[in-house]
Amino acid sequence: MNNDSTPPVSHFIRNIVVRDLESGKHDKIVTRFPPEPNGHLHIGHAKSICLNFGIAAEFGGTTNLRFDDTNPLKESEDFAQAIMNDVRWLGFKWSELRHASDYFQQLYDHAVYLVRNGRAYVDSQDAEQIRTSRGTLKEPGTDSPFRDRSVEENLVLFEKMKIGKFADGEHVLRARIDMASPNINLRDPVIYRIRKVPHHRTGDSWNIYPMYDWAHGISDAIEGVTHSLCTLEFEDHRPLYDWFLENIQTACHPQQIEFARGNLDFTVMSKRKLRQLVEEGHVAGWDDPRMPTIAGLRRRGYTARAIRAFWKQAGVAKSESIIPMGVLENAIRNDMNENAPRVMAVLDPIKVVLDNYPEGESEWLQAPSHPQKPEMGERSVPLSREIWIERGDFMEDPPRKFFRLRPGGEVRLRNAFIIKCTDIRKNAAGEVVEVHCEYDPQSRSGLPGAARKIKGTIHWVSAEHGVGAEIRLYDRLFNVATPLADKDRDYREFLNPDSLHTLTSAVVEPAVAQGKPGDFYQFERVGYFCVDQESKATGLPILNRTVSLRDSWAKLNR
Ligand code: ATP
Ligand code: MG
Repeated sequence: MNNDSTPPVSHFIRNIVVRDLESGKHDKIVTRFPPEPNGHLHIGHAKSICLNFGIAAEFGGTTNLRFDDTNPLKESEDFAQAIMNDVRWLGFKWSELRHASDYFQQLYDHAVYLVRNGRAYVDSQDAEQIRTSRGTLKEPGTDSPFRDRSVEENLVLFEKMKIGKFADGEHVLRARIDMASPNINLRDPVIYRIRKVPHHRTGDSWNIYPMYDWAHGISDAIEGVTHSLCTLEFEDHRPLYDWFLENIQTACHPQQIEFARGNLDFTVMSKRKLRQLVEEGHVAGWDDPRMPTIAGLRRRGYTARAIRAFWKQAGVAKSESIIPMGVLENAIRNDMNENAPRVMAVLDPIKVVLDNYPEGESEWLQAPSHPQKPEMGERSVPLSREIWIERGDFMEDPPRKFFRLRPGGEVRLRNAFIIKCTDIRKNAAGEVVEVHCEYDPQSRSGLPGAARKIKGTIHWVSAEHGVGAEIRLYDRLFNVATPLADKDRDYREFLNPDSLHTLTSAVVEPAVAQGKPGDFYQFERVGYFCVDQESKATGLPILNRTVSLRDSWAKLNR
């Protein structure tokens, strides 16, 4: 399935599964991942995916991908396709692709069974009346005047709801449980509503659609799910989940187990809100590299391996917590540190002329692709008389501990030799525009002078060979840790206006310009970058900063 090599991490759900296998309650584990196709998946969904697929795979079981497509107003086939793509990309294979809509007829038949047994009734109150007669946490609800309709009348009305004889909202079907239950979910929940809208898979066949709670548990049972894993907000729905399964005819009764949602700071994680950000143009799309979506993280340069490692490390528990974004960034930083080939790129270039380097000549130096991994091979780095270095690596009048280039000072060029600053040229405004240096031919690696100790090493790119590039530097999408915490303010007020900086005068090693979308690199001394999917073979290559080399943000902003 995927090649994660660290041993499984134990948690309370895994313990339950182990116990159920040992006791013989189950001989095979079946789980499901049940997204609603109303948007793209986000990093929180990845937690559920890793958990559901991971646990079944570990114990030789299976996992279905099931679209919870019971709300045709908000759902689409495009979203379903995007979700399948993301699950595959994360490295998981579903055993079967299912849809709640595959079961519309069975769900309906089970509802008729409830009606026949006096356990469901057609309520003709409007939504507002139903809401107010629900009661509160302190007060019991009151019975609907339609609660005691005869079975025959209910059957006729429900059938008419189904075939479209009524308008939206005229009637609903409710389970007949207990209007005085301390658990409000059990106060005669609605299980069907009229929605005269076409469904992206069943077309015009249905005029009524099942509610989530009704569809969910029964779909689990139909698929023979053993452990139905969901997030904590469904804890209060568990008695209802169980009531439904006890009151229909089914041999299978999955166990619902709740775990805490995955949350991250400095972002929002709800499809509805993410959709708002896309539709209102706050970001460039679902796959904008600042988005916490799987598509956004992928485009940002995250690997599926890093996302899996992140959730594995975070664990599965029953208490809510918010994980600092820095922890997610560390996961990709560790992955990139291991796997990214090293190259050089200058983001904010200033020209250096090596006056004693023969004019018109150039050479190709061999440099390791990864300092600790000789198996990753070597690359050839071109050098010529003029090179670019980072503007910030030269200072005309530096402070004492500045170990980079200064007038009269020496610095080592990464993978090459030592240079000494002999002169500078300024423009009319007094800004340094060109630095002149002499290089020490004996200091090249492999030669006797190579051992000469110099405090600073800087990166560089040959001016003759370097290729211009557009670099996109991303920062947090929001400028507060919890954009939803302030109930009096809209979360969009906290969008970070500086979350994207685009640099258009960067220069990269020629090898980088040949990179294909998705290829990633460490720009030595700068950070981890990947080729954006908009990057074309012609025109400026576009690179996204995936993550900086170190977590400078944590230090600066906290
Ligand atoms: P959203 O509000 O983002 O749409 P949702 O729970 O409504 O979230 P679904 O498509 O219904 O989205 O979710 C599919 C599965 O993913 C569910 O089992 C849900 O519990 C789980 N899930 C959603 N968000 C998270 C999260 N942040 N952490 C862990 N699991 C999650
Ligand atoms: Mg949902």
